[in-house]
Amino acid sequence: MVVIIEPKATDEQIQNVIKHLEDYGFQIHKSVGVQNTIIGAIGVKPDFDIRKIKILDGVADVYRVTAPFKLASRNFHELNTVIDIKGTKIGGNEIVIISGPCSVENEDQIFKLAEIVSKSGAKILRGGAYKPRTSPYSFQGMGEEGLKLLRKAADKYGLLVITEVMESAQIDIIGKYTDIYQIGARNMQNFPLLKELGATNIPVMLKRGLSATIEEWLMSAEYILSSGNPNVILCERGIRTFERYTRNTFDISAIPVVHKKSHLPIVADPSHATGYRDQVPPMARAAVAAGADGVMIEIHHDPEKALSDGPQALLPETYLKLIDELKTIAAAIGRELN
Ligand code: PEP
Ligand code: MN
Repeated sequence: MVVIIEPKATDEQIQNVIKHLEDYGFQIHKSVGVQNTIIGAIGVKPDFDIRKIKILDGVADVYRVTAPFKLASRNFHELNTVIDIKGTKIGGNEIVIISGPCSVENEDQIFKLAEIVSKSGAKILRGGAYKPRTSPYSFQGMGEEGLKLLRKAADKYGLLVITEVMESAQIDIIGKYTDIYQIGARNMQNFPLLKELGATNIPVMLKRGLSATIEEWLMSAEYILSSGNPNVILCERGIRTFERYTRNTFDISAIPVVHKKSHLPIVADPSHATGYRDQVPPMARAAVAAGADGVMIEIHHDPEKALSDGPQALLPETYLKLIDELKTIAAAIGRELN
């Protein structure tokens, strides 16, 4: 931690800052310049609240040097984490495609879409059975019936399953059907849920919260990792900004930032990040170019009748064409995609 002292601070105030730092267990290195005094406080304390120093008289500013997350940090785990789920690797050189509808709606729908997903060469079928809807009057998902259909459709085409878990009470039931738990944006900081998923041995895909900083997102990953589950995938799904022509603002820069700060794989979700069908292919292409380890895309054969997120669902033909384009981009940056 670096503490910048106010130019007008008195010796007494500086001594008081030093005393506080020492009492908190830091080793002190004081540098006195012509204008400014800087105090280096050495000691790894990821949970230290720097406001305790910021608030002291004579302190101009305080900067943290060590990130507050540890298990999620690349500093402590240099190599990429590669998660192997029944032979499908997430976080390696191959870019994984996750696709399917927003919600499982009925048998015919999920089987039709699973066939398209398989035809595209994607390995993972998505579909919500428990849906986090903004309105309590919107379709809330089919529940266990939806999970059964999703699993059946995935098994028919040899696909893995990912589906959202919204609360602790759903962990066991969803665990019977899924290969990956999805934590939705709205639950990114539901710490009790994160801890409970951390105690399972099923991989977890953690979506970025609506207004979460990357550091807050990595701290949430830290909750899962520190509870014993090393298999965490991050998912950038756009953040809330002032822009209204898109549903969210797709933070592509999060991809290289996460790769630098963390060893965990990152998947991009251009569907929720934009909210509009015409914006999805360009952002999917950009995500692959930016280094995403996977892309999640919502599709629907009849989006006008979809029970959720129809406007952002790609039609099968557009989706298949997009996957071909993504293959070209992946090859151009030395990655595989099939
Ligand atoms: C979803 O993937 O269906 C979903 C609800 O996404 P998010 O949590 O990112 O809004
Ligand atoms: Mn959706």
